[in-house]
Amino acid sequence: MTRRRLWITAGTGAALVAGGKLVGDGALTASAEEAGQEDRPPVEARWLGTNAWELKSEHATVLIDPWVSRFPTGAYKGGADPETDIEVYPEVIDEHVAAADCVLVTHGHWDHIADVPYVASRTGATVLGTETHLNLLRAMDAPEAQLGQVSGGELYRFDGFTVEVFRSSHSASGEHKRILFSGSRLGEVPKRPKRIGDLVEGGSLTYLVDFGGVSFFNAGSANVLGREIEGVRPTVLFLQPGGGHTPDYVERLLEATGHPPYVVPTHWDDFDEPLTEPAVPAGDWEAVRDRVAAASPESEFILIDHLESHVFN
Ligand SMILES: [Zn+2]
Repeated sequence: MTRRRLWITAGTGAALVAGGKLVGDGALTASAEEAGQEDRPPVEARWLGTNAWELKSEHATVLIDPWVSRFPTGAYKGGADPETDIEVYPEVIDEHVAAADCVLVTHGHWDHIADVPYVASRTGATVLGTETHLNLLRAMDAPEAQLGQVSGGELYRFDGFTVEVFRSSHSASGEHKRILFSGSRLGEVPKRPKRIGDLVEGGSLTYLVDFGGVSFFNAGSANVLGREIEGVRPTVLFLQPGGGHTPDYVERLLEATGHPPYVVPTHWDDFDEPLTEPAVPAGDWEAVRDRVAAASPESEFILIDHLESHVFN
């Protein structure tokens, strides 16, 4: 039943499950413990590059930050040029994104949001994001009736899964802790965004998606608001390189999420490079792996490459 198309266990070729005691209250959610692990419906996580994930159970599909169009911006070669034109390639999206019930937007930057209007129109999925994210999407002709505004704190039930939303922050850069394309919050629909600099961050959110025992926690940017997510107990934590301005970013995120059974690196590829090739590292996922191994030896670190997937149950 479990399909493991790719199980790279970084470095040693063996699973990174070191000895040591389970930390805290244990890693499973209460509902998982009640259900018994074998009864939990499996969920396949497929990486579409950047922070784009398809989470698919037998009954439902959730997309996080589905962005696959990819056009060169120089993001990891000196910094993204804000004047870069936004490109959306429907044929590329059609190739990689089949169906979706729900699309979760973590923030408004192009590498998270630019394909969402097309994905929403084609799939009919509910789209969750902040007021600013939704106004950006409206300006790019996303279907109004599908846009659900959230601000953090919500817990919603869908058919086959729940989504809990948490207020968060984007990672900072430079000595003055600036946020890329921070712009201003948009209380109304702006002119149609043409360049990537028009796609402002618009607030950042994190999400816990629970498919009835198997759950995923995702932050689209490398920052952690520890008090907001205290007590969250995902099965799988997506963790990205970065967070250099946040002391003990990796360790605090692991602590806040109860040292989850599985950690999957995300947003570590150079997204100027093709999605159809193995990921070209832009962030140091090996450093993330080593910090996870040190801080959370019971967690299994699972590296998933472009367009590969792993089944969690
Ligand atoms: Zn961003």
